[in-house]
Amino acid sequence: MLFCTKKTMDLHNHTTFSYDGTNTPEEIIENAIAHSIDVIGITDHQFSIGRDISNYYKRLLECKEKYKNKITVLIGLEIGTRPYPEDFNPKDASKLDYVLFESLDDERAMDLYDFLDWRRKFFCKCGLAHCDIFKMSKRYDVDMIQIMKKHKLFWELNISGNYTYYYDFLTNDKKREIIKNSKIPMSVGSDTHWIEEYRYKALRRANELVRSLGNPTIL
Ligand SMILES: [Zn+2]
Repeated sequence: MLFCTKKTMDLHNHTTFSYDGTNTPEEIIENAIAHSIDVIGITDHQFSIGRDISNYYKRLLECKEKYKNKITVLIGLEIGTRPYPEDFNPKDASKLDYVLFESLDDERAMDLYDFLDWRRKFFCKCGLAHCDIFKMSKRYDVDMIQIMKKHKLFWELNISGNYTYYYDFLTNDKKREIIKNSKIPMSVGSDTHWIEEYRYKALRRANELVRSLGNPTIL
C-alpha cells in the first residue's frame, strides 16, 4: 500500500557487507535511532554480498526483531546496472523489502529497455537510486515518469552530495511541480558508508520536501 507518510526515512545505507561500508548493520541502525529516524533501510551492494545473501538476510532479519520497538528496519539491496550483473538471480531478492537499481542514468549503464525487461523478474518493491530521470527522458526521448509508473519504480532522492540531480530538483520549481503532479512514489536515502559523516539535516530536509509534495512513499 502506498501513501504519504509523516515518518522520517533513510532508505539507502551501506554496512560492512559492502566493500565500501565501514559500520556494522547494528551501528548504522543505532546511529539512525540516535538521530530520530523512523525507518532505516540497509542496501548493501549485491556484488559485495555475492553468494552470502542468505547470511545478509538472516543478520538483517535479526536486526529487524532486535530493534522493532525503536525503529523500523527494512531489508534492501543496491543492484548495479553498469552493466547489469549477470550472476545475480532476481529470485534472491524475493524476500527483501525492496531493491534499489543504481546509476541507470550513467552512460555505461545497461539500455533502458533491457533494464525494464529485467525489472519484471523482481517481485519486491523496486526503485531507482540516484538517477536523473529528467536526463534520461531526454536521452531516450521518452517520459520517464510514465515509464516508472507503468513499471512500478519508485524514485530516490539521494542526499549524499555526490549527485547533482538532487540539488537541481531542490532549486527547480518546474521539476518539483512535475514530480508533485505525477504522484510517483519516492524514497529518501543518505547513502551512508560511514556514520561519522551522517548528513541528518539534509536527510530531514529531503523528507520534509517529499511530505510537502504529497507524493506517496514506499513505506
Ligand atoms: Zn549506495
